[in-house]
Amino acid sequence: MSAPHVKVSDIKSRPDQPDCGLGHACQFCPREPECTLDKPRHEKLLIEARLERIDQIVLVMANKGGVGKSTVSANLAAGLAARGYRVGVADADIHGPNQSRFFGFVGAHVRVSERGLATCDFETAPLAHPIKVGSLAFLMEREDTPIVWRDAYKHDFMHHLIGSFDWGALDFLLVDMPPGTGNELITLCDMLESANVAALLVTTPQEVALMDSLKAARYCQERKLPVLGVVENMSGITCPHCHGEFHLFPREALARRLEETGVQSLTQIPLDPELARGSDTGVPDILARPGGTVAEAFRPVINACVEHAREHFEQAAVHSLNDAFSENLQSPMLEQALEGLAPEQRDALRQELTDMLNIEQQRLSGSGRSKE
Ligand code: ADP
Repeated sequence: MSAPHVKVSDIKSRPDQPDCGLGHACQFCPREPECTLDKPRHEKLLIEARLERIDQIVLVMANKGGVGKSTVSANLAAGLAARGYRVGVADADIHGPNQSRFFGFVGAHVRVSERGLATCDFETAPLAHPIKVGSLAFLMEREDTPIVWRDAYKHDFMHHLIGSFDWGALDFLLVDMPPGTGNELITLCDMLESANVAALLVTTPQEVALMDSLKAARYCQERKLPVLGVVENMSGITCPHCHGEFHLFPREALARRLEETGVQSLTQIPLDPELARGSDTGVPDILARPGGTVAEAFRPVINACVEHAREHFEQAAVHSLNDAFSENLQSPMLEQALEGLAPEQRDALRQELTDMLNIEQQRLSGSGRSKE
């Protein structure tokens, strides 16, 4: 799957403005003190070159910490990877980066190469492709260092996360967002404007968390960012003694508010100690218990991501075909071929070609829409 958002080539081809071609930000570059090239342009090129190879970005958002956003990101990534997709997880939760722990990379540090900062690659037997993890934690000397970020640094970090890490070709990049709708989100949304981005909201059924998460939904609606839906986390619990299921918090308020906001609930993930244990041991629970209730609860979320990416791909394909069709109808070769014909035959043939191409376009648009 590849969406047409390539813009790098036209900038790169300008010989008056050379680029160093290195895949990491100037801040990591040993040549930086002597470098006289245009640094902001280098940063822009880096980000565009990365985005060009990523088909679908999913921002995993919540307005409140502790509702399970990182847990959902890690397990969703593992679920997509288990279906054979190439997946990356960008840990943008700059105040509490957790993905290094969730994938067993505590204490890992990254190498800087010509191609950028190396991701840590989570590999396990059933996965066709490793899950690529990029996190601020890999840039810190110690994981338990408290992080106090000035806004300018936050902006830099978001750029490094997407631009400097060597993500390679990905079907999905899941971004584990910091809680809230603050500067980080705005920076990231601005940076990803040309990419195919959708949001996934995580909430718990408690009223406070719920109100906060819907703020995120409204932000997405204002920015015209598609919302895949809401994951209701910690929704329900199974008694370890009698195995009966019960809800700690009532769901009615959540259902009512979701309806008011026009956002659909995708799934309810139970409060399950194994899910937390999986995160602590560095193997996402969905991989450790592929047939379990948690894996089952994640299925609609995985489907929603795949469906969204497919729709986008089909729409992009229809657009490219539209362009190719209209170019072909005006091509000099076609004109040459038609030249030998009588004018009325020429017009009839041209009309026939146009009708054929229209039918094909309609067929493709129809197959795109049928998945909505
Ligand atoms: P956030 O990213 O929103 O701050 P985390 O994903 O870090 O939240 O989750 C906070 C804590 O709750 C973690 O210890 C995690 O293991 C635990 N947790 C999250 N979801 C569940 C769940 N459904 N069942 C049990 N524990 C969970």
